[in-house]
Amino acid sequence: MWNAAVHAEYLHDHSDYGFDGGHVHFSWETIKTKRDAYVSRLNHIYRNNLDKAKIETIQGHARFIDGPDPTVEVNGKKYTAPHILIATGGFPSVLSDNDVPGASLGITSDGFFELESLPKRSVIVGAGYIAVEMAGILSTLGSKTSIICRQTGVLRNFDTLISSNCTKELQNSGIELWKNTQVKVKLVSKTGNGLLEVTLVTKDPEKKNEEEKIGTIQEVDCLLWAIGREPNTAGLNLSQMVRITPQTVYKGFIVVDEFQNTTRQGIYAVGDVCGKALLTPVAIAAGRKLAHRLFDGKEDAKVDFSNIPTVVFSHPPIGTVGLTEEEAIKNRGKENVKSYKTSFTPMYHAITTRKTQCIMKLVCVGKEEKVVGLHMQGIGCDEMLQGFAVAIKMGATKADFDKTIAIHPTSSEEFVTMR
Ligand SMILES: Cc1cc2nc3c(=O)[nH]c(=O)nc-3n(C[C@H](O)[C@H](O)[C@H](O)COP(=O)(O)OP(=O)(O)OC[C@H]3O[C@@H](n4cnc5c(N)ncnc54)[C@H](O)[C@@H]3O)c2cc1C
Repeated sequence: MWNAAVHAEYLHDHSDYGFDGGHVHFSWETIKTKRDAYVSRLNHIYRNNLDKAKIETIQGHARFIDGPDPTVEVNGKKYTAPHILIATGGFPSVLSDNDVPGASLGITSDGFFELESLPKRSVIVGAGYIAVEMAGILSTLGSKTSIICRQTGVLRNFDTLISSNCTKELQNSGIELWKNTQVKVKLVSKTGNGLLEVTLVTKDPEKKNEEEKIGTIQEVDCLLWAIGREPNTAGLNLSQMVRITPQTVYKGFIVVDEFQNTTRQGIYAVGDVCGKALLTPVAIAAGRKLAHRLFDGKEDAKVDFSNIPTVVFSHPPIGTVGLTEEEAIKNRGKENVKSYKTSFTPMYHAITTRKTQCIMKLVCVGKEEKVVGLHMQGIGCDEMLQGFAVAIKMGATKADFDKTIAIHPTSSEEFVTMR
């Protein structure tokens, strides 16, 4: 979907690059059909791979049942084994109609993939990477889009340079941002024409935190909640089996040690259900390491959670690995941290009317200036990150970056020429 949106962005630049094509029609139905067929193909390939590996697949909802040995029940049948792995992932948090009247009229990221047509007017509630990605896709493809963000900007857990630049890029691209530490959706109601009206309020500290209506967004055909994710543990009957974090604090994630062991021998957990670094390659790596440890004699096999590279598929994309500047200062003290920053217009935009910025930051620590964090947003940053992540994983210093000859003319060369 992001690739479709990038196509839409580039259409704006066609005439600047000498292509005159008139109006181009976008068909959501075409991309959805092709995307769903691709996912089905993948499902089929994975299923075949399991069959080829002689792995029995039991289709159904699993739950633990009480007993002396760990036992799982699926479709009324009981299964036990010396090793049981929980990899049930998570689901998007939702608000009930008691929390916000009309909340259930909205969808989540799951519902986004079920949309049959491009919404005309979208409201995204949330400010994490899923909110940013969904808003970017919808807006770029032509839906008038608003983001409701409780903070002063999106991506608050990222380096401040990323957070502030991404907020700016969203606004520059035409997305309406309702940002304020207290802004929230108070009411969602369906109007006569079947469309939604979203009422927003804020708290006024000068009026004893009384709520004050700050606006309504009308004729909304897509209200999307992107307010966090929760682990799929509730239906598993885990309470007697393994330790889970209190629902109120960390939302019921399964507690595991560094080897993915739960508190019960022979039961392991990997992936989103553990609540740490919620990313596909992290789940895969944890599963592989565990398999090597249990069945391949590699007793020390475990995932190293440091320096996990992450991309946010915003417009333009964000790449980040390692510590934010704030984290490095907290860990090592301000006097031991040096950051290098740059901001420029990528060459792609030299001749385009539409512009996006590229921003980059290197966070270095100690006398040797070891690079402990790399953060960037700009065209190509998604593909740029992996190689730099290898260098950082190997312990590269700023001097190592400087010794590397630049590739000209690219955006990535800025990382090896920073002063
Ligand atoms: C909108 C969105 C965008 C994302 N983008 C990225 C991205 O760009 N890059 C990236 O790396 N990650 C991305 N992620 C995160 C990524 O999807 C997860 O980190 C990853 O899927 C976690 O894998 P998992 O195996 O732990 O869980 P899942 O992939 O969620 O798999 C869990 C499976 O367990 C099944 N299950 C649950 N309960 C039971 C039960 N009781 N019995 C039987 N089966 C059960 C579920 O049906 C599901 O099939 C994204 C997530 C979202 C929501």
